[in-house]
Amino acid sequence: MCAQRKPVGPEPHPGYFSDDLAAADPEVAAVVADELVRQQDGIELIASENLVSRAVLEVQGSVFTNKTVEGYPGGRYYGGAAPADAVERLAIERATRLFGCRFANVQPHSGSQANQAVYLALLEPGQRILSMALPAGGHLSHGATVNLTGKWFDVVPYGVRRQDGMIDYDEVAGLAQETRPKLIIAGGSAYPRLIDFARFREIADSVGAWLLVDMAHFAGLVAGGVHPSPLPHADVVTTTTYKSLRGPRGGVILCNDAALAKRFDQAVFPGLQGSVLLHTVAAKAVCLGEALRPEFQGYARRSLENARALAAVLAARGHTLVGGGTDTSLLLLDLQSTGPRGLTGDVASESLENAGLTCNKNAVPFDPQPPRVTSGLRLSSAVGTTRGFGTMEFEIVGGLIADVLSGLAAEPGDNRTAEAAAKRVVADLCQRFPIYPA
Ligand SMILES: *Cc1c(COP(=O)(O)O)cnc(C)c1O
Repeated sequence: MCAQRKPVGPEPHPGYFSDDLAAADPEVAAVVADELVRQQDGIELIASENLVSRAVLEVQGSVFTNKTVEGYPGGRYYGGAAPADAVERLAIERATRLFGCRFANVQPHSGSQANQAVYLALLEPGQRILSMALPAGGHLSHGATVNLTGKWFDVVPYGVRRQDGMIDYDEVAGLAQETRPKLIIAGGSAYPRLIDFARFREIADSVGAWLLVDMAHFAGLVAGGVHPSPLPHADVVTTTTYKSLRGPRGGVILCNDAALAKRFDQAVFPGLQGSVLLHTVAAKAVCLGEALRPEFQGYARRSLENARALAAVLAARGHTLVGGGTDTSLLLLDLQSTGPRGLTGDVASESLENAGLTCNKNAVPFDPQPPRVTSGLRLSSAVGTTRGFGTMEFEIVGGLIADVLSGLAAEPGDNRTAEAAAKRVVADLCQRFPIYPA
C-alpha cells in the first residue's frame, strides 16, 4: 500500500512566483531602498560607476537568471538555448558594430577576467608583460604584485614622467628593447590623458610583442566618437561595460583577427570561466544598443565637456591636476600642495563624502603616501552627466569640492561647517536632477 502523500502546493512556498522583493524579503528590500536613496541624494564622482537605464536594470533581473549555458551561440553544451543564442548574438553584433571591429566576446564576468582571458590566450606562465605601474595609474589586473598577474607572469612596469604626469614613450620603448616582453599593455584606471596607440603599436612591433589596450575607462567616449579608437592599432582591446558604457558589471574582448578571436573564445570558455551570466549578457546587449543611438554621442561629448569644466574650476582654485587636465571623463587631483601642509586622499575623500560628494582616494604618480592614505583624489563626470548635469552644474560641483578642501586645509580636525554648507547645495542639485522613479 502506498503511503499517503501530503498534497504539494503549486509553489515552493506561498508567493514564490509572485511576491516582489519588498513582500518576500523586507530586510534585503530595505537595504536596496537605502542604496537608491544614497544614489539619489549624493553626487557620485567615482570614475568606475554609472547609472544604468531602467531597461538594463530590468533585463538583469529577467528570467535569463535561470538559464545555464556553456560555450557559444550555435555550439552550446545544454539544450533549450535558442533564446540564449539569440541574446548573445545580439550583444556580439552590437559590440562589433559599435566599435567597428570584426569579433567580440561578451562573456567575461568582469574587466579583470577579460584581461585574464587575453593572458591565457597569448602567454605561457612566466612570460613577460610590460604594463603601466599601479601607482602611475595602471590597473591591478595588469600585473600588480598582489594580483594573479604579478604572481604568474614576469611583469615589467613603466611609469609616467615626474614633471607632467604623462607616459614617457621613450622610456616605454627603451624598456621594451631591454626586456623583450611578449605582451605590452596600454590603458589604466587613473590616467586622464590621451594614449598614443600608434606609438605603442610601433614599440610592440619593434620587439615582436602583442599589444593589448584596456579601454575600461574611456570605452564610452570611443563609442561616442569623442576619443580615438585603439582598435586600428591593438591586437586586442578589452573593456568593462559598467563605466562610461553605462551597462551591467562585466567585460568584453574585441579584436579584428579571426585566429586570435578563436583563441580568446577558447580562453574565456573552457579556459577560464564556466557557464555564461546570460542575464548580464542580455544587459550588455541592451547597453550596447543604447550606445548605438545618436543620443549617446551627446552623452560622450558632454562627459568630456563636463570633466573639463570641473578641471578648469579646480585649477582656477589653485589645485594641481595630474597630467595638467583631462582628455577623458576622469581627473586626478594631486593634494600635496593643497593648503600649507598638503592634504591626503583618505582625509579628503572622507570629508567630501560627509558633504554628499562621493569619490575615491587615489595614489598619484610618485606618491609618498601608502595606498591606504594616498595623496590624490580621482573624480569623474560620468555619473553626473547621466543625471543631466551640464557644465554649469559641474562648475558648482568643482566649487563645492574646492570649498570642502579649503576648509580641511584650514581646519584639519573639524570641517563640519564647510561640509554642511556644501551638503545643502548638493541636496538642491540632486533634487533638481532625479534618477529612478520610486
Ligand atoms: C575597472 C577596470 C578594470 C576591471 O575591473 P573589474 O572590477 O574586474 O570589472 C580593468 N581594467 C581597467 C583599466 C579598469 O579601469
